[in-house]
Amino acid sequence: MSESSPPTKREAPVHAPMSQFALRDGELVVGGQKLSHLAERVGRTPFYAYDRGLLKARVAALRAALPAQIQLHYAMKANPMPAVVGLVAGLVDGIDVASAGELQIALDAGADPAEISFAGPGKRDIELAQAVAAGVLVNVESARELPVLAAASQRLGLPARVAVRVNPDFELKGSGMKMGGGPKQFGVDTEQLPELLQQIGRLGLGFEGFHLFAGSQNLKPEAICEAQRKSYELALRLAEHAPAPVAFLNLGGGFGIPYFPGEQRLDLAPIAANLQDLVERAARELPQARLVIELGRYLVGEAGVYVTRIVDRKVSRGQIYLVTDGGLNHHLSASGNFGQVLRKNYPVTIGNKAGSVARETASVVGPLCTPLDLLADRMELPVAEVGDLAVVFQSGAYGRSASPQDFLGHPHCVEVLV
Ligand SMILES: *Cc1c(COP(=O)(O)O)cnc(C)c1O
Repeated sequence: MSESSPPTKREAPVHAPMSQFALRDGELVVGGQKLSHLAERVGRTPFYAYDRGLLKARVAALRAALPAQIQLHYAMKANPMPAVVGLVAGLVDGIDVASAGELQIALDAGADPAEISFAGPGKRDIELAQAVAAGVLVNVESARELPVLAAASQRLGLPARVAVRVNPDFELKGSGMKMGGGPKQFGVDTEQLPELLQQIGRLGLGFEGFHLFAGSQNLKPEAICEAQRKSYELALRLAEHAPAPVAFLNLGGGFGIPYFPGEQRLDLAPIAANLQDLVERAARELPQARLVIELGRYLVGEAGVYVTRIVDRKVSRGQIYLVTDGGLNHHLSASGNFGQVLRKNYPVTIGNKAGSVARETASVVGPLCTPLDLLADRMELPVAEVGDLAVVFQSGAYGRSASPQDFLGHPHCVEVLV
């Protein structure tokens, strides 16, 4: 006779706790201030606020977890606010830029040009010349860039520092966005590498190493470890064809943060162990190489909130709508329209009532005349009134700069580092 356990009620998955932010008097604390006070200080809504203390703590925790030999780069496309880049540049070992515009911000922020690298498909000739003039490392994504770099180098009498971005023959499994493996606009296919490396030698460019980036927003340590191992091994094979010893090896990143119900924070321990292994191998096999990982959202995403004010509270056929003064025009990702396949809710709360026990199911929508402008779809939230502050967590990355601010003609949002 088989014993069957009583059917257990399947609990709906919940968001990871947003415990990085404390509560005071029932309000969320951001940058040391109660949210209602911070909103007064900023003087208007909507705004993004990035917490300095959390940014520092994040880098410190990462440094403590990973082997000391691993260098940390910040991929600034995640959050290019100049004050954020300035702060983070002082905490990490280098900045990765993906346009001349980002290069300008990084240089203004005081980042050391020796530790800036410039990746991205479709670099224009003028951008390549700017990179040579600035003395930054160019991650070459196409053979077309080589003669342009050589010409700029000759004209300026400055060396062109290059690494090759490789389009690997594998991908980062289970990633939000895959950026390697198969046909891609990024990097140079592994098969074309020996020829390209020869050309770098012939043109007398300053070869420094390789850049591999297999994907983004990954919460599976085993997948990240596998991609890092494969990246290392691929670089080791390619090094045989290189015109100079490998001095720089960017193993990519892809560390994710929990956005949606059921997602957990990434466990760094297996990744640290795997990197330790690679550090030891590199000491023998690529003795001149410094190993780099490049992270965007993992460094800044959890430190930021998007804050909007509720301007209306409507009930439509029994469903509560909290209408705010900003939405997808400032925060496309939270609306679910930036690379999500199925829309899911970011963690959201009513920031000035976050500790309140009076709760209800409500939707938070922005002011745009489109049903896409949805920040929270039927979530359990503290009971809110007009004037309260709706807060979207996990908003430190791919927020303002990744959103169509002019769409529908509402005011732009502001950003503060607090
Ligand atoms: C976007 C990007 C990153 C940052 O990705 P995150 O998911 O924010 O960590 C890093 N490297 C490259 C090459 C990128 O294109």
